[in-house]
Amino acid sequence: MFDSLSDRLSGIFDGLKRRGALKESDVTEALREVRVALLEADVALPVVKDFVSRVKEKAIGQQVLKSVTPGQQVVKIVNDELVAMLGSETSAINTAGVPPVAILMVGLQGSGKTTTTAKIAKRLTEKENKKVLMASLDVRRPAAQEQLKILGEQIGVKTLPIIEGQMPVEITRRAMDAAKLQGFDVVMLDTAGRLHIDQSLMAEVVAVRNTAMPLETLLVADSLTGQDAVNVAKEFDAQVGITGVALTRMDGDGRGGAALSMRAVTGKPIKLAGTGEKMDALEDFHPERVASRILGMGDVVSLVEKAAETIEKEDAEKMAKKMAKGEFDLDDLRTQLQQMAKMGGMKGVLGMLPGMGKLKGAMNAGMDDKVFKRQEAIISSMTQKERKQPKMINASRKKRIAAGSGTSVPEVNKLLKMHMQMAKMMKKMSAMGKKGRMPMMPG
Ligand code: GDP
Repeated sequence: MFDSLSDRLSGIFDGLKRRGALKESDVTEALREVRVALLEADVALPVVKDFVSRVKEKAIGQQVLKSVTPGQQVVKIVNDELVAMLGSETSAINTAGVPPVAILMVGLQGSGKTTTTAKIAKRLTEKENKKVLMASLDVRRPAAQEQLKILGEQIGVKTLPIIEGQMPVEITRRAMDAAKLQGFDVVMLDTAGRLHIDQSLMAEVVAVRNTAMPLETLLVADSLTGQDAVNVAKEFDAQVGITGVALTRMDGDGRGGAALSMRAVTGKPIKLAGTGEKMDALEDFHPERVASRILGMGDVVSLVEKAAETIEKEDAEKMAKKMAKGEFDLDDLRTQLQQMAKMGGMKGVLGMLPGMGKLKGAMNAGMDDKVFKRQEAIISSMTQKERKQPKMINASRKKRIAAGSGTSVPEVNKLLKMHMQMAKMMKKMSAMGKKGRMPMMPG
């Protein structure tokens, strides 16, 4: 899977990442090629469009890092967006409920539903120590219930005894009751498939869902069927409501479109990847690993990450030096505000420092992101000189700054007061630090 897409992308980026300087047209051209490569990999058009426009926006707005080339930075952005498109993080199967917890397996016939049901049961039994009961609800295909029973014997997982003539909802009820009585943790329900979506199938699955009240409803989809798999997922989600997707045949040489668009189109995470016919051939779906397999540029990604870290570290060191000297002007305050906004707000940051209770109380009033933005705007409306020497900001300057930032004079006053408090505190801390005492605030 992904081989040809991977080849295409590395071709595009090999040229780009070596170049010293990038023009906007270089990026635009590269992204045009990326767009074609993704479409050829059978990724859904809206997903591709969204992807390309996000990469472009970030590439244009980014801070230039020392020690890496702009092309390498673009590769990193593409990587990050690819990860975001795939779902950002690994989502585990949820079994945290009052036992017995039901897991409902849905999907088309031949997608690998029965195989995946058994694979998951095996994993829950062996890796999570769960007592699992499997039941086949496929009463149409004569051999289906027998198939699950044989798989169960093979992997050492119990299956619900077959009673001929029972309908899916009855079997479901019997499975849940048996699980309750016999102390099973998890009941895996393998529903009947069809060759394509039809209404009677959907009605049956919905009735089963209402009986079992599953914690997970996993759609099993064949990744080799490309965008069809995505459409099937959308349909099942609309009618039954799915909690995640298991993509099978990831070991095949599909173009990868299903894997790449599934999350973006359905909003539901890909939880598992089937990678073969054997019962162990089931993996967690790791968006980061998949992205790095597609791009094949893990080295560039970590290089850029390191460069970004270095810049942040250098900034922090510079700030620490200034603070030690008791210098803290409004430019520094602005940098702090920007960093704090990134770190989840002033309260979060101050809460981590010892002895900051008093200051935290003083600043608590509305310290959210919107306030940061307004404060940043106020500082940005000041002249360079005003930022270095806040004392020169008199009444008329305050009026000008308030008008320029779309705020009010009281807000400007508040910011200046906050800065003064902070500067005072910094001086105190550095003085105490020099005397060899712990730099703690009273209270
Ligand atoms: P169902 O009709 O949806 O229950 O499909 P089955 O579970 O019976 O699977 C159909 C076929 O696909 C079987 O031969 C499985 O061994 C095979 N299969 C299922 N998952 C995978 C997978 O991840 N990779 C490969 N290569 N084959 C798979």
